[in-house]
Amino acid sequence: MSDGTLEVIEPATELTLDRLPRAGADDVDRAVAAAREAFPAWRALAPGDRSATLRAVADGLEREADHLIRIEARNAGKPIGDARGEIAMVIECFRYYAGAPERLLGQTIPVAGGVDMTFREPLGVVGLIVPWNFPLVISSWKVAPALAAGNTVVLKPAELTPLSAIELERIAVEAGLPAGVLNVVAGPGSICGKRLVEHPDVAKIAFTGSTEVGRGIAAGAAATIKRVTLELGGKSANVIFADADLEAAAAAAPSAVFGNAGQDCCARSRILVERSALDSFMSALEEAVRSIRVGDPLDEATEMGPLISAGQRETVSSFVSEDVPVAFRGSAPDGPGFWFPPTVLAPMSNDDRASREEIFGPVAAVIPFDGEEEAVRIANDTIYGLSGSVWSRDGERALRVARALETGVISINSNSSVRVSTPFGGFKQSGVGRELGPDALEHYTDVKNVYYAIDGS
Ligand code: NDP
Repeated sequence: MSDGTLEVIEPATELTLDRLPRAGADDVDRAVAAAREAFPAWRALAPGDRSATLRAVADGLEREADHLIRIEARNAGKPIGDARGEIAMVIECFRYYAGAPERLLGQTIPVAGGVDMTFREPLGVVGLIVPWNFPLVISSWKVAPALAAGNTVVLKPAELTPLSAIELERIAVEAGLPAGVLNVVAGPGSICGKRLVEHPDVAKIAFTGSTEVGRGIAAGAAATIKRVTLELGGKSANVIFADADLEAAAAAAPSAVFGNAGQDCCARSRILVERSALDSFMSALEEAVRSIRVGDPLDEATEMGPLISAGQRETVSSFVSEDVPVAFRGSAPDGPGFWFPPTVLAPMSNDDRASREEIFGPVAAVIPFDGEEEAVRIANDTIYGLSGSVWSRDGERALRVARALETGVISINSNSSVRVSTPFGGFKQSGVGRELGPDALEHYTDVKNVYYAIDGS
C-alpha cells in the first residue's frame, strides 16, 4: 500500500517538480513477488533472446534520450551537458551487457572418472538500491548486468530523484521486457530499502550510497546470507608531482572535484601537491576555479549546478567554517536553489575534518607534500579507497605510485576512471565487489559445479 505522497523537488528552483505515491513495505513485497514470478521464464529465455531484449531496451532509451536528459538535469540539478553524457552512458551500458548472455562462459575441469563443468547461474530476485547523485547511470550499472545474467530485479531509487528510474521501467516494458522482470519502488530507504535488505526472497543487494548506510545493509543482509555489493563513499586523492604538466593538472582538477557539484563518490576532494610546485599550481587552479560557470542546469553553458537539497547544503557549509583557510572561491547564483560556490581550502593538513570526511559538495582541500613516500602515506591515510589520480611526467614513478595507492580505480595524468567496459569499485570502506566491465557479471551469478560420471565412478 502506498504511504502518502512523495513530493519531488527541483533543486535549482526549490519548486515541486512532481508528486507521486510514496511506496511502502507492502509495495516492496508485491514487487518482490512479481520479480519472483517472472524469474523462471526470464532465466529460461534463450541467451540470444535475452540479448535482443536488452538491445531493444537500449534502443528505447535512445529514442527517449532527450526526455531522460531533461528529467535528470531538472530532478538532480545537473548541467544538461553532463546529463547528456550520463544518458549516453546508460544506453551504452545496456548495449554492453546485451552482449553478456551469450558470453557467460563456464569451465571444463579435468577430473578422474567423468566430466566436470561449471555454470554461472543467476541468483534470483536482486534488490538494487541507488542514490540521488547519478540516478539513472548508477541504476543502469546494476540493472543491465543483473538482467543479462538472468536475474529479475527490484530497483529502489532515492526518494529525492525517483523520476528517471520510473521512466526506465516504462521504457523497458514498452521495449518488450516481460512484466515483473524490472520493478521500480519509489519510497524511503528506511522503509523500502530496509524491507528489500530483510526480504527472504531477495538473493542479493547491490547498493550505492553512504558508507554509514552501507554498513547497516551489510549487517542486515547477513541474517539471510544475501550476497552484497557495496559502492560507498570516497575521499580520493589527486596527487600532483612537481614534474607533472602543471597546467594540464590544474585545468583538470576543478572538474574532478566540482563535477556534479562535488556530489560524486569519485570526487578527487584531496588535492595533494608537491610543495615545490605549490605556488604555480595554485595560481593556475585559481584561474580555473574562478571561471567555472555555476547556474541554471538547463543552460548549455552551465558547468556546475546546485546541490541536491537544503540539507546537503547545510552539511557542506559545515566544512567551510571561519577557522578553515579558504584560499579562493568561485561564484554561485543568488535567490532560490540550493547553490554553493566551488571552494578551495589551502593549505590543509590531512588531519583536518575537511580532509578526512566525505563532504559531497564543491569543496576541495589542497594538501602540500614533500616527496613520493609522503604522497603515498598521506593519500592512503583514510578509511576510504575508491578512486584517485597521479600526475607526473616520470612514467615509472607514476606507475609505482598508482600501484602503491590503496584504491580500486586510479588514473595517471587524467582524472577519468569510470568506463562501461572496465571494473569500478572500492578498496577498504569504499565498498565490496565491482561494478561495470566483465567483473560485474560475477557479482550477479553463483558458480555451479557439475560432475558427470562417465565410467560409473
Ligand atoms: P544514503 O546512503 O542514505 O542513500 C542512498 C540510498 O540508500 C537511497 O536510495 C536511500 O533511500 C537508501 N537508504 C537509506 N537508508 C537506508 C536503509 N536503512 N536501508 C536501505 N536503504 C537505505 O545517502 P544520502 O542520500 O543520505 O546521502 C548522505 C551522504 O551519503 C552524502 O552526503 C554522501 O556523503 C554519501 N553518499 C554517497 C554516495 C556515493 O555514491 N558514494 C551517493 C549518495 C550519498 P532514500 O534516500 O530514498 O531514503
